[in-house]
Amino acid sequence: MSTGFQGKFHRQNMLSRFAKDLVRRSRSKCELCDKGSVKLEVYELLPLGEDPYVDGCVFICESCYKQITHPKKMVPSYWRCLNNALWSEVPAVQVLSVRMLRRLVTADQHWAEELLEHAYLEPDLEEWSLLAD
Ligand SMILES: [Zn+2]
Repeated sequence: MSTGFQGKFHRQNMLSRFAKDLVRRSRSKCELCDKGSVKLEVYELLPLGEDPYVDGCVFICESCYKQITHPKKMVPSYWRCLNNALWSEVPAVQVLSVRMLRRLVTADQHWAEELLEHAYLEPDLEEWSLLAD
């Protein structure tokens, strides 16, 4: 198994190969907030497997990316977009939406609590959603 800088480089390299598939899947819009005409980045959901795989990734904008990776920068009202993302056909988007809703519930966002009550994940996705964060 590769670790350190080499390993990270290798991983980034593999992730960049998913871009083509992700552009198609997302129709070039952020898979969480639906923003178009912006730079989209590949975000790999935790926990990371030995090798990255495209179904474990989402294609999202910089604002979403920043708030996911820096929870202290989270702007709760921004995440109303999860209202739509939650019903995405892409499992990784569903899982990430549920994780973000849980975070928002922790931040006393009652609307997020309501939304989460209506959310439904397939059992294996539910399990995945609990594996990190
Ligand atoms: Zn976004």
